[in-house]
Amino acid sequence: MLDGRLLLTAKPTYQTAPGMNELKLLFDLHGDGERQGPGGEEETRLAVTLSGLRGERGLKIADIGCGTGASTLVLARALDAQITAVDFLPGFLARLEAAARRDGLGARIETLAASMDALPFDEGSLDAIWSEGAIYNIGFETGIQAWRRFLKPGGVLAVSELTWLTAERPAELNDHWAAEYPEVATAGAKLSQLEVHGYVPLGYFPLPRACWLDTYYRPLQGRFESFLERHNRSAAAQAVVAAEQAEISLYERYADFVSYGYYVARKLAD
Ligand code: SAH
Repeated sequence: MLDGRLLLTAKPTYQTAPGMNELKLLFDLHGDGERQGPGGEEETRLAVTLSGLRGERGLKIADIGCGTGASTLVLARALDAQITAVDFLPGFLARLEAAARRDGLGARIETLAASMDALPFDEGSLDAIWSEGAIYNIGFETGIQAWRRFLKPGGVLAVSELTWLTAERPAELNDHWAAEYPEVATAGAKLSQLEVHGYVPLGYFPLPRACWLDTYYRPLQGRFESFLERHNRSAAAQAVVAAEQAEISLYERYADFVSYGYYVARKLAD
């Protein structure tokens, strides 16, 4: 999401597909990371707790926009579930498969290279849909509507989404995100969208700063130098790093006003 960059954090819906070269650069920068957006193991586990799914057996779950699978691995440990981890970048899925084998979770996780706007699941087939830092790619409101049909009645949706923490905020921050991701809104607005579209909210919490800085931005910054070297400091590689750095600086200045919100909701029967 670098004005069409798709991998990162809070970045916007991309209206036009990024060029292959740019996609390769983004994969190269982000593929070595444990996660491709803000989040944390404890926070995924908190969402699991809010979902009420612990203790149930034989669950079927999809983790959409899973990247290299930070949340998938937590879900596989926390729940008795078969998880289909979906991403449209096969390179990320290969990393996830290797990590799952390494952790002895291979039997619980299968990967699927597919686009989140054309998922091949049967209607009413899933106990839960998870998606951390990815639904913005089709937009929150479109995503919660499109994915609802795949859930069993009473099935759980757990998604994280860029969220304003306050009713008002500094203009620089507001203008940046309003341009990059116009659907950014307060938790109240997101919860109401869930209600309007046939879900019962079970819980919301904002991701703490550590989920941006410790688990995502600092490791990402640590990879900048080797990334630039691998690409001979090409203009394109420098532009990718500059865009990341600008986003990091914006977050550092305005962390009181914006985060990802984790939303957990139950599908209301039709
Ligand atoms: N959930 C992971 C990755 C978040 S980054 C984490 O929290 O670490 C967003 C992910 O969405 C990337 O892995 C990107 O490849 C994927 N993605 C973007 N657009 C997509 C689409 N249309 N269909 C499927 N995956 C998509």
